[in-house]
Amino acid sequence: MLGQVDFDDGGQPLRYSGVLRDITERKLAEQNLRIHQRAMEQSSNGILICDAGVDGLPIAYVNPAFERITGYPAEEAIGRSCRFLQGADTGQDGLLEIRSAIRERREGHALLRNYRKDGTLFWNDLRIAPVRDENDAVTHFVGVQSDISERIRHETALAFQASHDTLTGLPNRHLLEDRLQQAISMSQRNGQSVGVVFIDLDHFKVFNDSIGHGAGDRILQMLTERFSACIRDFDTLARFGGDEFVLVCPNLADPAVLVGIVERLYVAMRQPICIEGQDVQAGASIGIALYPNDGDSCSDLIKCADIAMYQAKAMGRGNYQFYAPELGRRTSERLNTENQLRRALDQGEFELYYQPKVSSLSGRVSGMEALIRWNHPQRGLVPPLEFIPIAESTGLILPLGRWILSTACRQLVAWAASPEQAHWSIAVNVSARQFRQSDFVQTVEQALRDTGANPQRLELELTESLLVDDVEGVIARMSALKALGVRFSLDDFGTGYSSLSMLKRLPLDQLKIDRAFVRDLLHDPQDANIVKAIVTLGVAMNLQVIAEGVETAEQRDALVNLGCTHFQGYLFGRPAPAAA
Ligand code: C2E
Ligand code: CA
Ligand code: CA
Repeated sequence: MLGQVDFDDGGQPLRYSGVLRDITERKLAEQNLRIHQRAMEQSSNGILICDAGVDGLPIAYVNPAFERITGYPAEEAIGRSCRFLQGADTGQDGLLEIRSAIRERREGHALLRNYRKDGTLFWNDLRIAPVRDENDAVTHFVGVQSDISERIRHETALAFQASHDTLTGLPNRHLLEDRLQQAISMSQRNGQSVGVVFIDLDHFKVFNDSIGHGAGDRILQMLTERFSACIRDFDTLARFGGDEFVLVCPNLADPAVLVGIVERLYVAMRQPICIEGQDVQAGASIGIALYPNDGDSCSDLIKCADIAMYQAKAMGRGNYQFYAPELGRRTSERLNTENQLRRALDQGEFELYYQPKVSSLSGRVSGMEALIRWNHPQRGLVPPLEFIPIAESTGLILPLGRWILSTACRQLVAWAASPEQAHWSIAVNVSARQFRQSDFVQTVEQALRDTGANPQRLELELTESLLVDDVEGVIARMSALKALGVRFSLDDFGTGYSSLSMLKRLPLDQLKIDRAFVRDLLHDPQDANIVKAIVTLGVAMNLQVIAEGVETAEQRDALVNLGCTHFQGYLFGRPAPAAA
């Protein structure tokens, strides 16, 4: 009769009972051995036994799980040094622990990168333990391996998600700051500069709105690929926000290297991107800051690069600017202006000037464009380009815009009383932000109602920047105002990016040829061609075309020859207070 074997939770034999007297010690030991052997064969962990008595610890036994995990059949593993799974990857920290455990003849535990027979990596959570003989001498080492590659992959994926942008796979803001901090620390040791390059795509909203968000996403992915090909291995390209990227370039012996990198970025983005059968071209405004010149913290450097980017945008997009402390000063000026603007409206510091629009056929004034002026108590007359953009970005344009509308309407009523001026219209410039307000139509209605002005005499000048989003809303608002009798001009025409199909849908009355084309008309045949094209377009679409910025009789004559019939400019009258 056989003895009964009890096992513990780990499957190890715990006790034998019911042993009969006729089973010898040797038989018992043999049976014991068979049980151990079966346990090893069944184990899902890889098990290997090495000979501690021979140099290099040759493998004496491996179990089937070892064969499965490593891909090496037992006959290829046995006899080889147990080190062979490390491949060439012999500098790992975990190996130090295993080597000293072997030297000190004790147990050891480490996480190792090992390589299967087919060369692929697996993460081996390895425990080793010495085996001693009856004299307490270590004869073997037993190693138990578990392949935890799956777990590591999962953990790595989680860590990646937390630090990367899902759309482009680029580091996110968080990881960017880590990398920038590392770059700064490295620079403190090696004395080289770090470049922070802020990339903001121009008109990205237009892509999104015209060809859809899915296409916009693909453009971002393609640009990511192209940008990544332009940078050095140790540079970090990160996605900072919607259409903003930040590039960190450490180890710059000469900051001029950045110019080369940035030029490459431009070349890469100018290659057309084919999306939904349409070729589109990306553009960007880029600002650059340098450590240690421009700041010594991540946030300062990113802020400086951002300011420089805005400067580049203001200079006409599609170019780059290095941060200059000068720009920092402008930022504080900007903040000052902002504060003073808030008070200016209450203090009555604004005034509308009027500039005539004339028709060449009769030479008579058909109307006036209202242009705002700020009589600043210290700075004197501040031109609109210095404060309108700030008023727009702070939202102050809304109360200011209401004031402009009602002041212009009051002026219309005053002129209506005089026989020579009764037919004059007033053109009011409306900023995109103002026009996008859902209550804009009511604002105009109210100004007309409160003053009693004739809506037929009110013209609104809009710019193409209005058309970057919510085109349907824009058209609905324009149509509602048209129904009141209000007329519309498209200002600065030719500088924007509106498509003909878009123009066709807008209930416009007038196109204003941008001053830039008139300015160079006499010297640049290209500009003459553009003017001619706009005039032709106007005729085709039944729109009045007016040229702005006409300063000389020669310009006027050239414009007349190109078919232009309406003018505005210093030649006919500078903007002046209503009294003049
Ligand atoms: P804009 O609407 O294109 O206005 C024409 C600008 O050209 C005016 O500059 C005008 O003074 C100037 N100008 C007119 N004729 C000539 C000329 O013959 N030669 C030259 N060199 N310039 C000429 P201003 O008044 O400085 O206004 C600049 C811009 O500020 C305007 O450009 C407009 O975009 C904005 N702005 C002015 N007033 C208002 C306003 O009441 N509301 C809004 N939202 N924007 C305004
Ligand atoms: Ca205008
Ligand atoms: Ca204009």
